[in-house]
Amino acid sequence: MKNIGLLLIATGKYDLFVPQLLDGASKFFLANHNVTYFLFTDSQKEFNVPNLIKIHEPHKPWPLPTLHRYKMFSNKREILYGQDYLFYCDVDMKFVNSVGDEILSKSVSTIHPGHYGSRGDTETNPDSLAYVGPKEKLIYFAGGFQGGETEEFLRMSRELSNRIDEDKKNGIIAKWHDESHMNRWRIDNPPTKILDCGYCFQATLPRPHTPRILALEKDHKAFRSDE
Ligand code: UDP
Repeated sequence: MKNIGLLLIATGKYDLFVPQLLDGASKFFLANHNVTYFLFTDSQKEFNVPNLIKIHEPHKPWPLPTLHRYKMFSNKREILYGQDYLFYCDVDMKFVNSVGDEILSKSVSTIHPGHYGSRGDTETNPDSLAYVGPKEKLIYFAGGFQGGETEEFLRMSRELSNRIDEDKKNGIIAKWHDESHMNRWRIDNPPTKILDCGYCFQATLPRPHTPRILALEKDHKAFRSDE
């Protein structure tokens, strides 16, 4: 039995998604292991789950809640080191089928459902540290579900957080924020386990994989606006 940390971010209106996420994860996510949820949030709501640790994270305007995800994890590495594995899941997802021991590997990425079989939409600005050249070999991965052994995941988090800060100093935010930087990283540090699109399944994009974690449809504008 391993200690597994599931990292979740829910600032602003996104706390609405937390109960559903936790409900599905408790049934389907590494159910035979010792799972702890680390929820980065500004929510005052109580989530009645014993194995949940709330970490205060102030809400910031889009795209900072996603762009700063690796900084959040890296800043809390002291409390995360107790886990054998860390996984991150977007909070607007729903576990609907078993996600088991097959995901336990040193570094784990999920093929992006919107870019299955293609090179994806990488950063094209050569001044960004997320830049990917047109001839580089690439599978495009989703930011929505990823993870790996704790030390390896935190190594990536620290490095990506630094690169994102460095870009910011130069007035650059990569096209798909943290996801662009993660995809650059994955070219240089290929994952030891690649998960199919079932682990970040979009109902509007049918793929030949068993749906396990659904990316929920939402009104992006409404959720990201602070009104
Ligand atoms: N997020 C958040 N508060 C926000 C915006 C985003 O907590 O105001 C977190 C949340 O975990 C969300 C993730 O960042 O699942 C990625 O954002 P979003 O799902 O909006 O991006 P998408 O995957 O739709 O591009």
